[in-house]
Amino acid sequence: MTRTALISGAGITGQAAAFWLRRHGFDVTVVEKARAPRSGGYPIDIRGTALEVVRRMGLLPRLRDADVDLRRMTFLHEDGSEVATLAPHAVTGGTAGADLEVRRGDLTGILHAAVRDDVEFRYDESIDTLDQHHGGVDVGFRSGREGSFDVVIGADGMHSRTRELLFGPEERFHRYLGYCFAVFPMANELGLSHETVLWNAPGRSAALYAVADDPEVHAFLNFSVPQPPSQLFRAPGAQRELVAGVFADAGWQVPAMLDALHAADDVFFDAVAQIRMPRWSHGRVTLAGDAAHAPSFLTGQGTSLALVGAYMLARSLGRAGHDEGFAAYERDTRGFVTANQDLVGTGGATLFPTTAQALEQRNDRLRRLRTAPAARAVPAHSALTLPGHPA
Ligand SMILES: Cc1cc2nc3c(=O)[nH]c(=O)nc-3n(C[C@H](O)[C@H](O)[C@H](O)COP(=O)(O)OP(=O)(O)OC[C@H]3O[C@@H](n4cnc5c(N)ncnc54)[C@H](O)[C@@H]3O)c2cc1C
Repeated sequence: MTRTALISGAGITGQAAAFWLRRHGFDVTVVEKARAPRSGGYPIDIRGTALEVVRRMGLLPRLRDADVDLRRMTFLHEDGSEVATLAPHAVTGGTAGADLEVRRGDLTGILHAAVRDDVEFRYDESIDTLDQHHGGVDVGFRSGREGSFDVVIGADGMHSRTRELLFGPEERFHRYLGYCFAVFPMANELGLSHETVLWNAPGRSAALYAVADDPEVHAFLNFSVPQPPSQLFRAPGAQRELVAGVFADAGWQVPAMLDALHAADDVFFDAVAQIRMPRWSHGRVTLAGDAAHAPSFLTGQGTSLALVGAYMLARSLGRAGHDEGFAAYERDTRGFVTANQDLVGTGGATLFPTTAQALEQRNDRLRRLRTAPAARAVPAHSALTLPGHPA
């Protein structure tokens, strides 16, 4: 008999899991709380093992066409003078010529095209209640609909409602990394092209990311703050005030960025944090992607973990019932996830030093990278060999 799966969230994890679960014979329904596919966001990276996942999905050629071809990263001192200009892979630890960097909306669109004919999508819908019993999971939806499924997968991101229903409040699993950030669009007044320019002062950074030759850039303001300002997460006006106060005396392009922040109606503000959980599954329900193990943008690995996790989950479920399948998914994927989450201690976080001394040390490292890129053993992004047939 065909098994049924309900997936909460039509992001990267949800759609990749839908693709692979269909391949393993499941009948798949996806609910997404947004009214339509969500296309926003910074470009995201696909590296290492995740490249093999998209290759097996048959999506590599389309994703290569969508690559934004980031060519350089320029680091600036507080006074706007240059520290170093580097090739992106020298900074990110990626592999030049192999890695992909695509607009998040291009990736979600390509995934959607690959699954939409075989999967039922319900937008403006979300899970309200989950009632597990020996025969399945009874689900109550926000719309008032009801349904019953063999398994349920929470792919509903960092602030997962499925996780809350299953394991309790987010605070239990939320590991705050000491920064908050705001991302918003602004006019590309510097005429930047295929590049990122990053300005740093201790505890504060501002970046402009020009995707290809787009007329707008992604503006990014990141700052250290000892405790997450939780009371602000639902207060966009107060978020803008906080950011404006932190950057009030900053130079370079920051005054223009603050003007754009005030004018933008599309501001993404959040704490830089990870989700770390002792287990991802309970009975017939499991979590995947950011819901289970958000690594934070400091690792650059959120999307790659999402793609690999979705593959591993569907493969394990395709070979066994939910008990054994979920156990195999956790056993075979957790080491890879942890290795990538642990990158915050070694890589990304050092791009945003909080003291003058740490900033000077970082700048020295960047100057050395110009001539001698850091040698790595097996990088975390490739620390899992994808099981199963490569075709
Ligand atoms: C709009 C948006 C912009 C982003 N921009 C960036 C970026 O610029 N840079 C970056 O590194 N990462 C960004 N991310 C996060 C990045 O996509 C993820 O880290 C990574 O791809 C893992 O994806 P995910 O599918 O697990 O989670 P997400 O990409 O967060 O997707 C989760 C999906 O679940 C949906 N959802 C949430 N709650 C519910 C609910 N209760 N019921 C039903 N559906 C629900 C969301 O609308 C979303 O579509 C963004 C995510 C979103 C949603």
